[in-house]
Amino acid sequence: MKRCAIYTRLSKDADGTETATARQEADARAFAAAKGWTVAEVFKDVDLSAYRKVTRPGYESMLTALASRQVDGVLVWKLDRLVRSPAEFERFWAICETHDATLASVNEPVDTSNELGLVIVRILVAFARLESATMSLRLRSVKAASAKAGRPKHGGPRAFGLTDGWTDIVPHEADMIVDAAARVLAGESIRSIVLDWNRQSLTTSTGRPWSAQTLRNLLLQRRLCGQREHRGEIVADGVWPAILDVDTCDRLRTVLTDPARTVPHAGRTFLLSGILRCHNCDSRMRGSIATNGRRRYACPPKPEGCNGTVILADPTDQLLADMVCDALDSPDLASALGRPDDDGDDHAARIRVLIGRLDDLAGMWANGGISRREWMTARTSIDQQLEQARAAAAATTRNRQAAPWVGRGMQLRARWDDGLDLEFQRAAVGAVIDRAVIRAAVKGRNRFDADRIVVEWRA
Ligand SMILES: [Zn+2]
Repeated sequence: MKRCAIYTRLSKDADGTETATARQEADARAFAAAKGWTVAEVFKDVDLSAYRKVTRPGYESMLTALASRQVDGVLVWKLDRLVRSPAEFERFWAICETHDATLASVNEPVDTSNELGLVIVRILVAFARLESATMSLRLRSVKAASAKAGRPKHGGPRAFGLTDGWTDIVPHEADMIVDAAARVLAGESIRSIVLDWNRQSLTTSTGRPWSAQTLRNLLLQRRLCGQREHRGEIVADGVWPAILDVDTCDRLRTVLTDPARTVPHAGRTFLLSGILRCHNCDSRMRGSIATNGRRRYACPPKPEGCNGTVILADPTDQLLADMVCDALDSPDLASALGRPDDDGDDHAARIRVLIGRLDDLAGMWANGGISRREWMTARTSIDQQLEQARAAAAATTRNRQAAPWVGRGMQLRARWDDGLDLEFQRAAVGAVIDRAVIRAAVKGRNRFDADRIVVEWRA
């Protein structure tokens, strides 16, 4: 970054303290000087109502400066001065990506030059949001009693997060929803949240333990942001107390309904979850801990899988690590992977266009411009194109992540067991391996035997 913009905002912190914009600016100038950056411009906003929707003229001008490349990046005192929700961050980051801009923070370890650095930024943003959302919840629940219009039908179980009759927020349940939303948006899997909640003995509104399905269904509900939905359409707004804002709800739906999601996030502590396939039913095998404490991969129970194939995880992980690292040093794979594929931006743009078309179609159908049948037909075709574009985007991401390691398989293997990040390991495996089929054991149900593993290489 050569010419940076400093962005400052006066706001109430979660604990009620304020940091004057002058102090933020002074710190940021010192930081920029230390890095050798020129401060091209300073943008400032004063906003004391931390998380309500307030227009921020300074922020908007700063975005314009980025988009017209008057500056190479933005320096903030803390990330929560810049954006107030993950959705807002994504909007900001889309502009940076388009215009090759970077982001830096005086008080946080922000490095947007690589995927892992970006994941950390997203987590920091999600946590900042979580803190303030918990604070504003208390305020909202006071007003909630007045939101009686559009009450749901009586009877049946109470909606999680709301009291009977949906008039009030149940604070500790609403906190759980806010927590889950922030964690999903930061990339955590639903399964991992459910495991964590059940470990803490947190239950549903009927006192049952959580399942991945119940939590997923809950997070997809429009009522979480106060909207009433009928057959997929929003028919009323603000009819009951909102626990999340509309942006967060929209983003949750995008993330949770993304078909690519189940692959990278399944079972985060197992290297090969989702990569190994059952020979019998072709399901993605998942990592789990057996009752004897041994880590293993198993075909999921019905209806997803046949539950018939199991293999010990540790020797399988080791074998695949060896194979992947060898492959990275093999000339064939290296040349296939080394080919730079810089279509990533095209894929992202295409995905946005296709999603826009889906919206247009839904609008045309709603206005009576096309029949339901025409809508469905067009939608199926767009869905297919969307799936292809997403797969292509994922492949590009994988290639980019593996590219630095091509030809360095031996070095990678040396670092593998020495604290190499699991997400990085998974990226390396995913970059060279399409899938690995686990065949039936000849003797003993989960016995490890290298012959049971049939690897299908990408290149
Ligand atoms: Zn199976």
